[in-house]
Amino acid sequence: MIDMSGLYGHEDYPVALTKFNNSNKIRKWSEFKDVHLKITNHKCPICECSLKSDELLTRNSGAASENKFTTITATVDHYRPQALYMFLALVADNYILMCSECNNIYKGCEFPLFSNPTVRATTVAEIANEQPLIVNPIIDDLLDLFIVVARQMTSGRKVLELKPKHTQGYLYEKAVATIQLFNLGECDVVCHNNTNVKNLRINLLHSHFVKFESFIDAYINKDRDKMLSEITEKNLRTYGFFKFFVKKQFINLSLG
Ligand SMILES: [Zn+2]
Repeated sequence: MIDMSGLYGHEDYPVALTKFNNSNKIRKWSEFKDVHLKITNHKCPICECSLKSDELLTRNSGAASENKFTTITATVDHYRPQALYMFLALVADNYILMCSECNNIYKGCEFPLFSNPTVRATTVAEIANEQPLIVNPIIDDLLDLFIVVARQMTSGRKVLELKPKHTQGYLYEKAVATIQLFNLGECDVVCHNNTNVKNLRINLLHSHFVKFESFIDAYINKDRDKMLSEITEKNLRTYGFFKFFVKKQFINLSLG
């Protein structure tokens, strides 16, 4: 997951905000897309798939015989969904970049809250009282929510996933709910019921493992030179995962 806390301080943000505020377009949220993509190194902040136009993922979207494919693209949508928070429909800081898979297939109109009984905000002022169970990479401290895990699935394939950092309380519940909602942990067990969607997520988390595999070996063996060469060669600093390694928030369960 990618920390987007630099968004509002980015030099392009005020320009995007002005364009957004002055726009009469129905799709005026699109004014934010470029600056969000700059902050995430052109990746989805949630699943870290590439959103570069020449690296977009695709998956089957029909029966195998149909040859229908969906391309996973960059979307800017509401963090708090319009269906539940109409008053935030046009509020700039309620917008967030995600890939179309995380946004439309996984998140949709879900917005679970920690508070029990659930009382949803009905005004902007009441928002501060809510404890959402879906992470917001723009405002949340991701390093206080997650650790990274390299894991071998029962199939033998290895994946890079997330686990909650805490063992109880709000931050724990938030991490668990987010990981489950987006299928970012135990991805072969807690998975989407559509096989094509499930396979795309597993393949993505496997590709993240492959990207980090040699780095993880060097990390475990404390081979500093190899770590540095892997960071440079594989562009690992562009991944949200990287910050967790720096903070030693990593567990290796990939040895089978
Ligand atoms: Zn995604």
